[in-house]
Amino acid sequence: RITDISDEAVRGTCDDASLCKRYAVNVGYWQDPYIEHFVRLPKERKAPEISRGYYARVQGVGHLLKAFLHKTQCNCQIINLGAGMDTLFWKLKDENLLPRKYFEVDFPSIVTRKIHTIKSKPPLSKPIMESHSGESLLIDAHSLDSSRYSIIGADLRDLPKLEENLKKCDMDPCLPTLLMAECVLIYMTHEHSTCLLKWVADMFRTAMFINYEQVNMADRFGQIMIENLQSRQCSLVGVEDCRSLDTQKARFLLNGWETANAADMVQVYRSLPPDDIKRSCRDFSLMRLLQWSSRLI
Ligand code: SAM
Repeated sequence: RITDISDEAVRGTCDDASLCKRYAVNVGYWQDPYIEHFVRLPKERKAPEISRGYYARVQGVGHLLKAFLHKTQCNCQIINLGAGMDTLFWKLKDENLLPRKYFEVDFPSIVTRKIHTIKSKPPLSKPIMESHSGESLLIDAHSLDSSRYSIIGADLRDLPKLEENLKKCDMDPCLPTLLMAECVLIYMTHEHSTCLLKWVADMFRTAMFINYEQVNMADRFGQIMIENLQSRQCSLVGVEDCRSLDTQKARFLLNGWETANAADMVQVYRSLPPDDIKRSCRDFSLMRLLQWSSRLI
């Protein structure tokens, strides 16, 4: 019962992420014509710090992802773990950068919602049909399997089932594989995330793992996040183990990975194109001005 409640809170983080992305897209931080189909525009404004953070995250992950796609000339597969309402499949298709196959995994209830939305919105379903060839596309409430895109409802803590489901959808352990986890491992216990990283290292001949998550959760900002999550009855069990970039690297190096690099988001933000940084600073000043003038009124 306790697990059910905390799993429900973890599933709720999918909506938080989509809302923040939708808001940032709406105010022009980056373009994503697909996210509006998955989430309504939030009524309240989001602080510019949040939009900036999401912008840096989307750009940072996108940069690594594209480097992998270019290096493999798209002759690869991508597995997005805890993908939530991510719209990457459609964006890669628009840019003619689809890998041989793109997989997503999330809890069955999240996947059911995503598939329902896809089925009811032609701008989402049409690109999947266009990229599909061969036999008829398999689709039910908990999974979708087309020749280039699979969505799998599974628990990342149940590795035998995860492997079985991925193999059913033609996951190929010999193909260069990019795994992504954006704010996902942090919601798993240290033991479960360690088993997942080790499983990936053993399963694929050539693999790269992009992991984006909070470090140093014990500082003030981290404390606020922990309190928020606790109020949603969710425990952050991995936190103690991932205090620094070094511990983040170590969790890979100790579990079968040959190399690991880590950067904090200040470094990533500073490496963004200067024009983008200037634009996000303008949004920041505008927001502060609005807050200041609304206090005067
Ligand atoms: N990666 C997406 C993004 O950045 O927009 C969603 C991030 S959201 C913060 C975390 C996602 O991980 C949620 O969709 C949640 O359901 C999923 N997740 C967490 N633990 C999981 C587990 N054990 N099995 C499957 N999905 C999980």
